[in-house]
Amino acid sequence: MHCVERKRMELTDLGDGKGIGGHITLEKLAIPGTVKVVLKGKKNIPGMDFIPVSFDCYGHPNFTSEQERLYSFKEEELRRELGEEYTPGAVIEYEEEVFDKLRVKFDSIKGLDRALFNLESLNEALRDRKRFHKAYPKEPLNSFVIFGRYNLDEWGQVWAIEAPRTVMFNMGVDVLDYDTFKSNIKEVFSLTHDKFVIPPADAVCPCCGKKFQMLDVVFGTVKRIDGKYYHDACWCNYRKLLEIDKFTRQLMSRIYKESDYKFELLSNGYCNEDCCSHIPWFLFHTIDGDIVMGWRKRVISIEWQGNYKPFDMKELFGDEDVTKWEEGEKRGIHAWGAEKAFEYLQKVVEAVNPDYSA
Ligand SMILES: [Zn+2]
Ligand SMILES: [Zn+2]
Repeated sequence: MHCVERKRMELTDLGDGKGIGGHITLEKLAIPGTVKVVLKGKKNIPGMDFIPVSFDCYGHPNFTSEQERLYSFKEEELRRELGEEYTPGAVIEYEEEVFDKLRVKFDSIKGLDRALFNLESLNEALRDRKRFHKAYPKEPLNSFVIFGRYNLDEWGQVWAIEAPRTVMFNMGVDVLDYDTFKSNIKEVFSLTHDKFVIPPADAVCPCCGKKFQMLDVVFGTVKRIDGKYYHDACWCNYRKLLEIDKFTRQLMSRIYKESDYKFELLSNGYCNEDCCSHIPWFLFHTIDGDIVMGWRKRVISIEWQGNYKPFDMKELFGDEDVTKWEEGEKRGIHAWGAEKAFEYLQKVVEAVNPDYSA
């Protein structure tokens, strides 16, 4: 069927590691090669064509972020020139794609069990579930659980199941329908989008360079961060090293010469859940004494320890409208970001060690 729609281009995360770009969501499944996008002009004002750079699993067009900007500039120009006559949105023409795959392949225990053969076949089944839902929005899919970790829901979405890990493996099956899963699991569980994910078949971990395997899905060890897929362990190690670099080379080494301080890693002093436990706090041994530092939500907690040379908190930080504390010999302050932390540390060094310069 030939379709004509009027839709606006939106700036969005295109997913699958493609980053931010323009996207147009259409009403039906589209055959990618047939999609034409035109911002129509009038009289003496020329319109503009937009050629998609890729398509999502529904055949809906993706654009670069530059195209999205050009689209909105053109829309703005037309709006100004045409006034009352202006209608927002581009005109999109396309041929509808008829979804005719056998439903049993992606919507039955048997079909999904086969799809678990490798990442390609699993991704194809997940894609088919989404496409089926787009083609037949009024017919809910069956809901399943695979590996006791992922829920495939009625609308073609995939959720991570956060729950103790004993149930499924004891059952000895890879695919269960959701109701059976629910009636068998004794523990409380919740569904999330970000805990762990199923990576696309061709995704490569940016840290170790290895392609993902089915086993990564079985064990739920893949994370998506800013649209990229990482091995859990690779990400945690990378994130930890980034933190060390921020606190040492980018911060402390601007205050003290590298030969004038050493550091130890401490466990995260704010949160020890999975979300933060790989991000360390720091104990710095400096020539002036010890300092403990680490992120606490959006502030850096800085605490000069008892053996750090004396200074007057009120005199140095009396004007700072932030959390401050003095506990015995310890003195602390919350810095709103790395530059503030640098400023506070520097101020204290200038007070206790006036002739010192890194
Ligand atoms: Zn990796
Ligand atoms: Zn946390």
